[in-house]
Parts: sequence; structure tokens; C-alpha cells
Amino acid sequence: MPPAIQSALRITLAYALFGSLWILFSDRWVEWLFTDINTLTRVQTIKGWLFILVTASLLFGLVSKAFLSIENLHRIDTQTRLLRHPMFKQLIDAQLKRIPEQQTLMVIHVDIDDFSDVNSRLGFDQADTLLISIADTLRDKYTANTLLARLGIDQFGIALQTLNSNENIDEELRELRLALAEAAGSVTDGISFTIGVALSPMDGKDAKKLLSSSSRALHKAKQHSRGSEEFYNDRLSKRENDRQQLLTDLRLAIAEHALSVVYQPQYHLPDLQITGVEVLIRWQHPERGFVSPDVFIPLAEEYGLSDKISAFVVQQTLKELSENRLLGNAIPRVSVNISAIEFNSEPLLQALTNTLRRTPHLLPFLQLEITETAALTDINHCATIMHRLKAMGLRFSIDDFGTGYSSLAMLKTLPIDEIKIDRSFVHDMHIDRKVETLIKAILSMASGFNVSVVAEGIETEHQLNTLTTLGCHEAQGFLLCKPLTIHELRKIPPGHKHVHESGLK
Ligand code: C2E
Ligand code: MG
Ligand code: MG
Repeated sequence: MPPAIQSALRITLAYALFGSLWILFSDRWVEWLFTDINTLTRVQTIKGWLFILVTASLLFGLVSKAFLSIENLHRIDTQTRLLRHPMFKQLIDAQLKRIPEQQTLMVIHVDIDDFSDVNSRLGFDQADTLLISIADTLRDKYTANTLLARLGIDQFGIALQTLNSNENIDEELRELRLALAEAAGSVTDGISFTIGVALSPMDGKDAKKLLSSSSRALHKAKQHSRGSEEFYNDRLSKRENDRQQLLTDLRLAIAEHALSVVYQPQYHLPDLQITGVEVLIRWQHPERGFVSPDVFIPLAEEYGLSDKISAFVVQQTLKELSENRLLGNAIPRVSVNISAIEFNSEPLLQALTNTLRRTPHLLPFLQLEITETAALTDINHCATIMHRLKAMGLRFSIDDFGTGYSSLAMLKTLPIDEIKIDRSFVHDMHIDRKVETLIKAILSMASGFNVSVVAEGIETEHQLNTLTTLGCHEAQGFLLCKPLTIHELRKIPPGHKHVHESGLK
């Protein structure tokens, strides 16, 4: 029976039951209680009014309940239990009134790509399960403060309050993408989502404008490509323009040899003899000033420039160190950072091997630092490559050890000479006792594998003393020495026992 008829029947039955009981019993009670004819007449009149009052209240209760549930159908989507458009809009307006100045309300339009194909591929039941799974995942992911809506058959709306910074907004989108992928993946594969985003107050100061902006952004994204995302405003393209400009400048800097290298010494513990240097690339941009390698190295990796960077670093290092006669006694070991990407691509690896062959004088001193992610794609293939390069006399170090998921597998499978404890561990060592336990475990494992351990990022004497006591082999960090230009490095005499001007004893 349809729910509407059920409700009507329930109301009618309640009324019929109450009316019948009233007729059956009320006259009898009144006649039993009152015998005087005048009183009886008056009571009968009051009883009539009472009947009207009670039935009217009953009717009000039941009818208002029915109307409320009809109204709810307009507010809440029954299938996904998410808000529908009018309610979403109303609540966005309410939230905009309360939003602090440094925050933004991100209004996000999510569209399932090719939903009609999904319907015909999976059938309606499975397609419905997909919609419900998405709604459930969104509900689990977000707090009650985030508004979730169904805006069309295959469209969802999210109004999310967050700090108004590019990093936060990007992170929210990244997390949303992960959640959507997880929801879709639990039902079927091959589903993608296109996303349009509007930000308050820039793209609209009220719900109506924000929703129309996010919908337009979605339209723009759809025209661009499936699975993409667009902002209503040109925030991303501005950022993209900025990246493209930086990339052009980086290409130019590589071509014109405008990059440089610095050397950060590493020290043996506890006697603080220099064991080697780590070579770090530097870029002094003509307008922007210092650009961190954390910014331009990922850009170089993304646009296939990492082989050029490595070639430059290796050649420049050899040139500077040999011109200054520092290779050997003064600097027994030179560590160069190699991008993860170079280890996972045959052509880049070939380019690296060619570069190394062109610098035979550096090879006996050279150590390549690779990050954990470098080996992740195929650790066995990575081991083969490393053995090949080791045959040329190279040593290997695992940078930022302990920050990835494959530290132990790397230690077991790869021919490693050294690991570098990431500076986040050194930093947290005295804040969290568990970190000290982890460092001890790394040291004991490394000694089992006959691998040397360098602790990175030593900034305090307390850190240095603790690491020395724990038996760490080597140390590197601002406390001991900041990265130096070749001219500064030249001033450190051979076999020098380093004493930093900060007063390190
Ligand atoms: P990384 O290989 O882990 O290098 C260590 C980073 O820590 C360097 O930052 C260094 O300046 C910094 N550092 C050293 N001691 C301390 C300390 O006591 N405290 C703190 N807070 N930091 C310290 P830098 O030079 O900015 O390099 C950042 C990252 O960029 C490097 O991390 C490396 O992953 C990458 N990189 C640098 N040069 C090259 C290069 O020539 N090629 C490639 N592919 N990547 C490079
Ligand atoms: Mg490094
Ligand atoms: Mg590191």
C-alpha cells in the first residue's frame, strides 16, 4: 500500500476509534453521574464541545505530522538522506552569516562522470548502491558542520568551511577525491568524478551566487576533461601560470648554468671529524630571490628536467672540488641527491649512468642519496640497477629514512651503505619518547645489516649528545655546520676537527 494511503487510513482509523468509544461510553457515564435533568442537559452541551476540542486537537496532531513529512520530502532526499537543493541553499545562507573572516565556505559540485553508462553497465540497483555509498562516505568523513546535498541524479553538493589558504583548499579537495574514490571503489571500478568549486566570499556572498558559481565551474571542468576540477575563479590558473613561469625560468637557469651548489659537511661521532659532504642545489632567482629546492625539484621532476639537474650537480661538484683539491683527504665522501623519478625510468637512468661515466674522477668518492619513494615502484628492479651502479664504484644512501612505508624492505633488499635518519625524528626525539625508541631500533637494525647511520637536521647540543650516546655513527645539521659555498668549504683545513662558532664543545 502506498505510504500516503497508509497515513490517511491511520488518521481515519484513529478518528473512528475515538468517535466510537465516545458514543459508546460518554452518555452512559454522564447519565450515571447526573440524575437532575437540567444539569444533565448542561453537561451534554459541555460534552459536545469537549468532543469537538479533543477531535480537533487529534486531527491537528495527525494532519500536521503528515504535512511535515511531505515537507521533509522537499528537504531531504529519501534515497541518500542528504539535503535537497532548497534546504542546502537555506543552510548555506545561515552558515555564511556565522563564518569567521579568515575562513572560506567552499561550495563544491561533484558530478559522477558518465552516470548513464554506469547505469547500463551495473544495472539500476548497483547504480543506486553507488549513490548511497557515496552519500554514506561523505557523511562519515565530514562533521555536522559540513553541509551535504544531492543536487541532481548523479550530482552531489558539499559546503565546507575551511581556512582560506591555497594549501588548505587543495588539501580539502585532495581528501575529498580520496573519499570519493574509496566510495566508488567499494562498488565498482572505473568511476571518475568531475568537480567544480566556488569559494566565499570571492565567488559569491550568498548561497544563490555560490551555487551558480560552483555549477559553472563544474561545467567548465566538464568541457576541459572528465575527472578534472575547476575553480569558478581563476585561482588555479593563476597558480598554474605562476608554475609555468617558474618552469620557464628554471629551464633558462639550467641552460645558462645559473644554478649553483653548496656543501653541508657530515661529521663522525663522537670525534666530529669530517666524513663527507652532502651536495645541495641552490637557485637564486633574479626576481624572486632564493627558491627552495623543495619547490623547484618537484617541478623539475614533473617536467622531465631531473636528469639535467643531476648532470649539472655532478659536473659542478666535480669541477669545484677538484679545482680546489678537496676530493680525497679533505672530503672523503660526496653525497649527491638523486630524484626518485630517475630511478624508476630507464631513459633517465641511462642519462644518469652516462653522466657518471663522464666524471670518473668523482666516482670513487661519490655516494647517491635516494629517497624511499625512489624504490617503491619496483624494489627488485631498483636492486638490480643499484648493483650495476655499485660495480662502477658508487655507494648508496637512503635519504629521509623512516618516513616512507618501505624502510624495512629497502634495508633487506637493496645494497645500501648508509641510511639517513630523517630530521623529523631528530626533531621529535626529545618531545616523544617513542621516537627515541625508534631511533634505537633503527641503529640496532643498521648495525645488523652493517650499514652506517647519519642523523640529519641536528640543531641542538642536546640532540647531538643523545645521538652520540645512542651510538649514531655520523651527524649533519645546522648546529655543526650550515651548507657552505665552495669558497667557505675551502677554508676548512683537511682532517679538520670541526668546532662550530656556536660554541660546540
Ligand atoms: P635532503 O636531501 O633531506 O637535504 C637536507 C635538507 O635539510 C637541506 O635542505 C638542508 O639545507 C636541510 N638541513 C640541513 N641541516 C638542517 C638542520 O639542522 N635543520 C633544518 N631544519 N634543516 C636542515 P635543502 O637544501 O632546502 O634541500 C631540501 C631537499 O631538496 C633535500 O632534502 C633534497 O631532497 C632536495 N634536494 C636538494 N638538492 C638537490 C639536488 O641536487 N637534487 C635533487 N634531486 N634533490 C635535491
Ligand atoms: Mg639528501
Ligand atoms: Mg633528508
